[in-house]
Amino acid sequence: MTGRLFVIGLGPGDPRYLTPEAFDALAVAEALYGYGPYLARVPARAGQNRYPSDNREEGPRAAAALRHAAQGANVAMVSGGDPGVFAMAAAICEQIEQGPNAWRALDVAFIPGITAMLAVAAKIGAPLGHDFCALSLSDNLKPWDLIERRLDAAAGAGFAIALYNPISRARPWQFGNAIERLRRHLPPPTPVVFGRAVGRPDERVSITTLAAADATPADMSTLVIVGTRETRVIARPGRSPLVYTPRAAAEVSA
Ligand code: SAH
Repeated sequence: MTGRLFVIGLGPGDPRYLTPEAFDALAVAEALYGYGPYLARVPARAGQNRYPSDNREEGPRAAAALRHAAQGANVAMVSGGDPGVFAMAAAICEQIEQGPNAWRALDVAFIPGITAMLAVAAKIGAPLGHDFCALSLSDNLKPWDLIERRLDAAAGAGFAIALYNPISRARPWQFGNAIERLRRHLPPPTPVVFGRAVGRPDERVSITTLAAADATPADMSTLVIVGTRETRVIARPGRSPLVYTPRAAAEVSA
């Protein structure tokens, strides 16, 4: 009996963003694992069992899926966006590394998805058009002072920055603190994009500046893109503005 484990990215929410490869893997899975709201996005299929879990239970969730696949089942683990970006792919790898030898012999396939920063960027132009980096503002798995050092390094080096997990009920102050930090490195007019629930019916995308940015438009479904010194906003008559970072950059002036 040889089971398989598919680690699948569902994209940001719009079913049209699900890749055909992910669609096919979901169709053959006998068991689906994942965070409840992500699993709820996958249409029900007869003969398929679902094992939803809470947000913080990545380790046990990954281990349960591996155990199930090791018993010979076709198992799918789903993530929103891409499974390799702040999601289940690394949790699965951690469990394979620590777990029984049989898990190393399993057939495991990672299926990419459109990650939130690319979906948000595409809604507004090309804010990630030059060098950029992605940072999670969650200090659940790393200390806050490391996040501050990474913000300093990224902004200081002139990267556009995509901020995942900007805020939650358990982490109310971190986003404001991060914006404060970035103001030390970047001029007040630097464009900032808030992309909320992109690809879902309640999608909202807004543009502000680093000087005016605060936590108001941010929640757990929001991704924030902070531009660089070069990032520009193009006003358009009767249409929403475009935000883009040109493909050429000047020297970083520290
Ligand atoms: N694996 C996911 C990211 C998981 S971390 C991916 O690749 O997109 C969860 C964070 O992703 C959220 O706090 C938010 O910052 C961002 N996010 C996920 N879906 C989003 C969406 N539809 N619109 C905007 N941001 C989203």
